[in-house]
Amino acid sequence: MKKTAVFALLLTAVTNTVVPPISASHNNEHRVIGTSVQGRPIEATRYGTPGGVVVVVIGVIHGDEDAGLLITKALGQSTVPNGIDLWLVPTINPDGTALSRRTNANQVDLNRNFPYAWSKMGKPGYWQYAGNRRASEPETKAIVKFLREIKPDLGIWYHQNLNIISPGTGLEGKLRARYSQLTDTPLKRITGGRYTGVAVTWQRNTFTSGYGFVVELGSSLSIEQASLHAAAVLQTAILLRDS
Ligand SMILES: [Zn+2]
Repeated sequence: MKKTAVFALLLTAVTNTVVPPISASHNNEHRVIGTSVQGRPIEATRYGTPGGVVVVVIGVIHGDEDAGLLITKALGQSTVPNGIDLWLVPTINPDGTALSRRTNANQVDLNRNFPYAWSKMGKPGYWQYAGNRRASEPETKAIVKFLREIKPDLGIWYHQNLNIISPGTGLEGKLRARYSQLTDTPLKRITGGRYTGVAVTWQRNTFTSGYGFVVELGSSLSIEQASLHAAAVLQTAILLRDS
C-alpha cells in the first residue's frame, strides 16, 4: 500500500472515530412511518448521533394547533449536539393539518385515541371523540409502532393555545422547568379536558425509563420564538444526556 493510501486510510479512521458526526440541516434518515385516513404520508426525519439519547419531537397532533411545525422546521436546520439521536415528526395528523381541524378525517381526536387508559368518549362531531376503540386510527397505529421501535428517552409534544407547561417531579420536573425557563412559558398544570387515551401518557407509561411532556404554545408563534423553542429542545436534551 502506498504511503498516501495509508495516510488516507488513517485519516478516514481518525475522522470516523475522533470527530463524531454533527449534523447541520443534514439528516441521517427519512421515513414514511404510516399513512393517514386520506392517504397522506406521516413522515419522520432523524438527525444527530444514532445510538445517542433518543429524543422525539411531535410538532402537531391536533390539526388546528400547528405552530409546532415552525419548531420542527427550525430543529431541522439546527446543529444537533453530540450524543443526541433526534427524530422529528412534524405532524402525526396530516389530514387535520391540511384541513386545519383538530381531529383526523374520521373526526377522531387522536390525543384521546392512544392505547393507554383509553375510554369511550363522545360521538363523531364531539371535539374529544375518542374513536370506537383504542388505537382505532391509522395515525395512532403508525406513531405507536414507530415509537415502540425507537423507544424514546424524551418525547416533546406540541399543542396550543394555553401557553403553559405542566410542572413535573424528579428529573422530569427539571427537564420541564429548564424548557419553561428557556422559552418563558409558565409552569402551570394543564386542565380543561378529560384526559384519557392521551399520547404523552401512553408514551410515558410504555417507556417507563423515559420522559415526556406537552408544551402548550400560545395562540401564535413567531419565527424568533420558534428558534427559541428549538434551542430549548436541544438544551433539554443536553440536560437529559448529562444527567
Ligand atoms: Zn391540543
